[in-house]
Amino acid sequence: MSHQPFEQWILDDSQPLSTEENSLLNNHIGQCSDCSQLQEQWNHVEEMLIQAPVKHAPEGFTARWQQTFLAKKATQQKLNGKRFIHFLIFGSFTSLLMYLSLSILSGSPARFIMSFLRSSSVLALRISKLNMLYHSIQSYLPPAIPIILLILLSCSLILMLSIWGITFWKYSIKGVILNEDYQ
Ligand SMILES: [Zn+2]
Repeated sequence: MSHQPFEQWILDDSQPLSTEENSLLNNHIGQCSDCSQLQEQWNHVEEMLIQAPVKHAPEGFTARWQQTFLAKKATQQKLNGKRFIHFLIFGSFTSLLMYLSLSILSGSPARFIMSFLRSSSVLALRISKLNMLYHSIQSYLPPAIPIILLILLSCSLILMLSIWGITFWKYSIKGVILNEDYQ
């Protein structure tokens, strides 16, 4: 026994059936247990859908959701800040290690300490300038922007660390060469 188009007629409410189609369907349902069961189940589902209360968002839901969202965002930004600080600490530590290994390898600690101090003070000056710049820019911008600034800042910091490394290296090597020239 073919169940089409009766299954289609049972399940599709979008197009009302003609009188003829209706009598055909009723006739089929009278003979076909599958289709009568289908119609029964479908009617049950429709009843459940009608009886189910429409769930309105509780009062203040949007505001609460927004608050949660903002809190999450703030947490994320804090996390990003923490990561940035970890990155800074890691970078400084790596530079220090590089300095120490260079110092030990060269065997001229006094000169290295001098060049280290000189290059470090230059770096500190640059960082404080950049920090001032960052804070002045931050006060003009909405809170979403600083992440981009953080990225820019970290890029510049990497650049500065490399410049510092090169400066330090130049001071050291030049110092060593000059030392050799004098001897
Ligand atoms: Zn059938």
